[in-house]
Amino acid sequence: MIQVRDDGWMIPRSSARFINHSCAPNCALDTTFTLRTLRPVATGEQLTFSYDALTIAEWRRAPECYFWDERWSFDCYCGAPNCVRRVDRYRIRP
Ligand SMILES: [Zn+2]
Repeated sequence: MIQVRDDGWMIPRSSARFINHSCAPNCALDTTFTLRTLRPVATGEQLTFSYDALTIAEWRRAPECYFWDERWSFDCYCGAPNCVRRVDRYRIRP
């Protein structure tokens, strides 16, 4: 499930449902909920996006909507230099 609005989630029915988390993702959802690459992606490279990313604008608009359920938490082994090791809350990202 992907939070797409302050109070809305969607369940991808496309291959997007298999995209894993990374603390240094190569994709992000745009304002039309289309997954876009953030940089060139090599053939065979896994597509990733950040499950915990939140913009400051989203947070300021409706902070009460961005609660984190502990059942969503997991240890992260993405290997990125900025890896948070445990994804257990939304984090403000640029
Ligand atoms: Zn990570």
